[in-house]
Amino acid sequence: MSLLDFVFPKGCVVCRKQGSYLCDRCFTLFTFDTKNLCLVCNRPTYNNLTHPVCKKRYSINGCFSALSYNKTVQKLIFSFKYKPYLTDIKTTLVDLFYENLIQNEYFSKLISQDKWVLVPIPFSKTKLRKRGYNQAEILAEELGKRLDLKTQNLLRRIKDTKTQVGRSSVDRKLNIKGAFALRNQNFKLKNQNILHIDDVVTTGSTLNEAANVLKRAGVKKVVGLTLARD
Ligand SMILES: [Zn+2]
Ligand SMILES: [Zn+2]
Repeated sequence: MSLLDFVFPKGCVVCRKQGSYLCDRCFTLFTFDTKNLCLVCNRPTYNNLTHPVCKKRYSINGCFSALSYNKTVQKLIFSFKYKPYLTDIKTTLVDLFYENLIQNEYFSKLISQDKWVLVPIPFSKTKLRKRGYNQAEILAEELGKRLDLKTQNLLRRIKDTKTQVGRSSVDRKLNIKGAFALRNQNFKLKNQNILHIDDVVTTGSTLNEAANVLKRAGVKKVVGLTLARD
């Protein structure tokens, strides 16, 4: 028993049952994402990639999500976000994330074709100070270990945006516009391929905006990878 178990006794973050951070019953409440939406038009696409007709010069190339967003996933991600002592949850989350990705034939095909780098969606400094860590960064690092890919923090948040929750698609786009910039202008990004990591994707406006910044800097392909899809 670690000191943390003593200070914060282990209980399921979803139903509070004692014993583990996620009990067996709640574990069965996960469902895998099957929506496979194009992040530009938000309509189904069979291979998780942006429809050829939707693709513009700087748009994102596709997005893969592991879980479909429900109450269980919401509670789990919320705990993962706000309580650093619950980083125990990360193993469960990353296992689910990884297992689902590698079982997707289009994802396997995609990563075998090119060389990829994982890039987490950044937090603002204020938010980072408040929370202590960026969960997208943890997801990226852990997923990187399993996929044997490097993680690099290429972007920084230059605008403190208001929450995207409850906003319309158009509103989300406006809210996130101009939120990201390259961390270092000397990064050599020409022809690189990037897997963008975030916890949840809803309309895709955050991933699209980040992809736009990277593509303007010379990146060839940007594909989003999210733990859940709302
Ligand atoms: Zn439970
Ligand atoms: Zn489309």
